[in-house]
Amino acid sequence: MQNTSTSRFEPARRITPDRGRSLLGPALELIHTGRAPTRSALTAALDVTRATAGAVAAELAALGLVAVDSHPVGTGRGRPSHRLAPAPDGPVVLAAQVHADGLTLALCGLGGALGEAVFRPLPDRTDPEPVLGAIAAAGAELVRADRRRCLGAALALPNPVREPEGTALAALTFGWPGGTPVAELFAAAVNAQRLGPAARHPLPTAVGNDANLAALAEHRHGAGRDARHLLLVTSGHRGVGGALVVDGRLHTGSAGLALEVGHLTVDPLGRPCPCGNRGCLNVETDPEALLAAAGRTPDPALPLLDQARALARSADRDPVARAAVDRVVDRLGLGLAGLANILNPDRIVLGRLHQDLLAAAPERLPEAVIRHSLWGRCDQVPVVGGELCHAGLLGAAELAWDPYLRNPQEVLAE
Ligand SMILES: [Zn+2]
Repeated sequence: MQNTSTSRFEPARRITPDRGRSLLGPALELIHTGRAPTRSALTAALDVTRATAGAVAAELAALGLVAVDSHPVGTGRGRPSHRLAPAPDGPVVLAAQVHADGLTLALCGLGGALGEAVFRPLPDRTDPEPVLGAIAAAGAELVRADRRRCLGAALALPNPVREPEGTALAALTFGWPGGTPVAELFAAAVNAQRLGPAARHPLPTAVGNDANLAALAEHRHGAGRDARHLLLVTSGHRGVGGALVVDGRLHTGSAGLALEVGHLTVDPLGRPCPCGNRGCLNVETDPEALLAAAGRTPDPALPLLDQARALARSADRDPVARAAVDRVVDRLGLGLAGLANILNPDRIVLGRLHQDLLAAAPERLPEAVIRHSLWGRCDQVPVVGGELCHAGLLGAAELAWDPYLRNPQEVLAE
């Protein structure tokens, strides 16, 4: 397969000027995110001649990453153009996510083509090595059952990840020691399974924080598309995460730890937070907080998020649920306004439980944000729900694709 790609690639390399080669990454990202569905759209987006765009598309096709439809199609305006799309039989990456209720994995092609997600329970021992070993073993099953080449693997984690070392901080959900070298352990677990082609060993691997990765996925394929300063705030199983995407890139701060929005105080007399303070967004707007506001004791046999989402969805018919939703929505609105005052986003995307709170209070929540953010001018800023049902998982796939989006010729690397 490698040889076939190389020989098909050679003629394209001869006709592509140096400038064209430097355009391969930007062109692949445009096709990957659906912003260049035709060759004429690619020509316009790259601001190059039709011949250069054609050569770049041909080279991406020769690399096995992009399919160029040889029959030009009319786009309604201008002359017909060749359709461009990620190659349907092209390579995939392995995406995985660890959360309080278990492990989720899927293979993912370019274009956000996430395959069917599989779920695995957490191992009995939740220290890092058994968890990462279980992910690698489940990933190996997926990769071996698929005929496509696997070019990389990435993992979304519910805790902050310090960069560039790839160490986990405050992994409270599992009690992992602070500073666990999770990137290194994940690479070792994946490569012990020898997932990729023999020529691609070790396979490139990466780890990231789940909220950061969800923001990246929503920006490239979901509700954050075309936003320039996208703020994402989300609450999954426990606590609250946030992320900021600026001009298409995650803002991660000096050590990967920016946007720890969960510890913004929204009620100084509120519930105690594991960070040592009281009334953080983390403990005032997460699933447990909503259940507590309704006087419900969580059922330990069921995922907290599912119980809280069901409660939020019952607000229209249950006055106790309505009062709980309103209370938590007011806290969330205060927190979002504080963030907007500091960050001045042009779109706010809410994930998981926060998305359900927005659906349950579609006027009250934006009004609370506007009321508390006079200087942040939030009357101009749309607050919308996420569009992706596995945003963290798709974000992990984006992380695994990153080396190839930067330099598509990496698919040929031995
Ligand atoms: Zn806190």
